[in-house]
Amino acid sequence: MTTYPLELLDLDDALTAEERGIRDVVRELVASRVRPYVADWYEQGRAPVRELAAEFGRVGLLGMHLTGYGCAGASATAYGLACLELEAGDSGVRSLASVQGSLAMYAIWRYGSEEQKQRWLPSMAAGTTVGCFGLTEPDHGSDPASMTTRARRDGTDWVLDGGKMWITNAPVADVAVIWARTDDGVRGFVVPMSTPGVTAREIRRKMSLRASSTGEIVLDDVRLPAEAQLPGAVGLKAPLSCLTEARFGIVWGALGAARDCLHTALEYATTREQFGRPIAGFQLTQAKLADMAVELQKGYLLALHLGRLADAGRLRPEQVSVGKLNNVREALAIARQCRTILGANGISGEYPLLRHANNLESVLTYEGTSEVHQLVIGQRLTGISAFTG
Ligand SMILES: Cc1cc2nc3c(=O)[nH]c(=O)nc-3n(C[C@H](O)[C@H](O)[C@H](O)COP(=O)(O)OP(=O)(O)OC[C@H]3O[C@@H](n4cnc5c(N)ncnc54)[C@H](O)[C@@H]3O)c2cc1C
Repeated sequence: MTTYPLELLDLDDALTAEERGIRDVVRELVASRVRPYVADWYEQGRAPVRELAAEFGRVGLLGMHLTGYGCAGASATAYGLACLELEAGDSGVRSLASVQGSLAMYAIWRYGSEEQKQRWLPSMAAGTTVGCFGLTEPDHGSDPASMTTRARRDGTDWVLDGGKMWITNAPVADVAVIWARTDDGVRGFVVPMSTPGVTAREIRRKMSLRASSTGEIVLDDVRLPAEAQLPGAVGLKAPLSCLTEARFGIVWGALGAARDCLHTALEYATTREQFGRPIAGFQLTQAKLADMAVELQKGYLLALHLGRLADAGRLRPEQVSVGKLNNVREALAIARQCRTILGANGISGEYPLLRHANNLESVLTYEGTSEVHQLVIGQRLTGISAFTG
């Protein structure tokens, strides 16, 4: 008899019936709409983003932790569980939902005018409008405060110039939330991608997150009406608060990729025979499996704790940094270790291991690199900022 890693500590008991129900719906959706196809999407380097968005919208996954405007109003923990199940399919697929719900929709939901919310959120929740979130620039990643994209007033209009890089969903998006420097500091703008002067180009030759659309956005003399500005977003703390939302989903999501790797390795190890016995019967293999199961469950308990804090309205950004740093780092270590258990098959696209491991390289970098999260935690511990030296 084998026991699946997350059953070792009966961690399901820590969830409510409603949370388990939401988790199961997403698990089934991933089983039918993602798993059978994702290896091909990955190999081809393209995913059916619009179709997936519509499917996710139909079951209420997009912006599911937001309230009103067609959003499901689920708990943060339920949202985390959904991210875990999506990323058990593929990190790129989870990224689609994270960027739509936690970055683009959240920015409008939290900082937008009533008119902006009414205009954009219902169709984004339904997945018929795809959004993206442009903060990173070619020369400014970890340090968005130094961004060079500018928005200047011209009468009552705004005119945007600059460029954004590595923007998830951008090549297929209908709308972008763009962060730009103004004379009064950083501000956010809701930019329809059809606006004259906006162009998006797909970034090719990615070796990671291949089942996700990632692009560069060029903004050339883009004229927007005054109402395009997000009235509540003042300064860099606005986009950073959106990132905290999305990182929370990553804390959970990364565990999904790790769980899928561990399930695959367990099944393989119990059936693959060498030296006349299943490789799962070798102590060295069991040591790997046991250590990985322990790490997976520690990560899950951490995610659950952060979820409960979020649902109580008490989650702080540096706590999310702890979760993102630990869970992505451990998920990547698990994916690589599982890869070794499958030997040569571990590098084959017939199995999900190297796909997950490669995807997690992006997850380690985006939404704050692991080094940035170490600096956030270090600053909280010591009271000294080490960001500039
Ligand atoms: C697949 C993918 C999708 C993405 N999607 C989006 C998106 O939708 N929207 C968006 O805005 N961005 C997105 N990003 C961009 C992502 O957020 C950035 O890549 C990330 O913030 C890091 O920036 P950078 O790549 O410019 O690296 P850099 O900032 O140049 O960092 C390079 C290295 O230097 C280290 N470093 C930097 N500063 C310090 C410091 N002070 N101390 C110690 N080490 C430091 C970093 O940790 C890293 O190891 C995406 C990236 C990827 C790969």
